[in-house]
Amino acid sequence: MKKPTLYQATIEKSINCPQCGDTLPLYFKWSKLVQCPSCKSSIFLEDKSVILLGDSSALSPEPSLINIQEPFIFEKKSYLPLGKIRYSYGRGFWEEWFLKGEANQEFWLSIDEGDFALEQEAKITMPFHNIHKLTLGKSYGTYVVTEIGEGECVGFTGELPENISVGKLHQYAHLSEGGSSLITVESSSSKRMKVFKGNWIDPFKITKVYG
Ligand SMILES: [Zn+2]
Repeated sequence: MKKPTLYQATIEKSINCPQCGDTLPLYFKWSKLVQCPSCKSSIFLEDKSVILLGDSSALSPEPSLINIQEPFIFEKKSYLPLGKIRYSYGRGFWEEWFLKGEANQEFWLSIDEGDFALEQEAKITMPFHNIHKLTLGKSYGTYVVTEIGEGECVGFTGELPENISVGKLHQYAHLSEGGSSLITVESSSSKRMKVFKGNWIDPFKITKVYG
């Protein structure tokens, strides 16, 4: 069997941390937010300027199948995890991992107590513009609302293609079609509703790449 081609974690550009001056390599051309590995400052990248957001709530490291800058393979495609956002829902938390795909696409891997969903932002026009209009069990075409939840954004590590709002409430809803197919709508107080499409995936089919 032909092995899938792996790509290296290549540095797209480097900046200097405005707080500690350390060199900060960026692995994604369109990253908007990065945490300095040395001083843990959050740095917002706006066009050519670099804005210090102050100390970010550093996330305690958790044992994880997925690790920043360690590529993995799923269904013959490789993905490079570059950052993660953590959301708390009181007694626990879930994480949204930002992954760079083989052709520089943005993917999001949501990990919630062993449930893995791999999705991409999709240009799908939903028949509603407010996530609060959704109720569990309601159908939209072939999709049914199967989960509605919310959590507080508690922090991030690595680099992200968007800014986050620590402390802000984040709402989401899953719409399922049966099988593994999934649509997720997300809404944070300050931002427009976003729509993602993808699949629930089997974490046992994720292969780690070492070397
Ligand atoms: Zn720094």
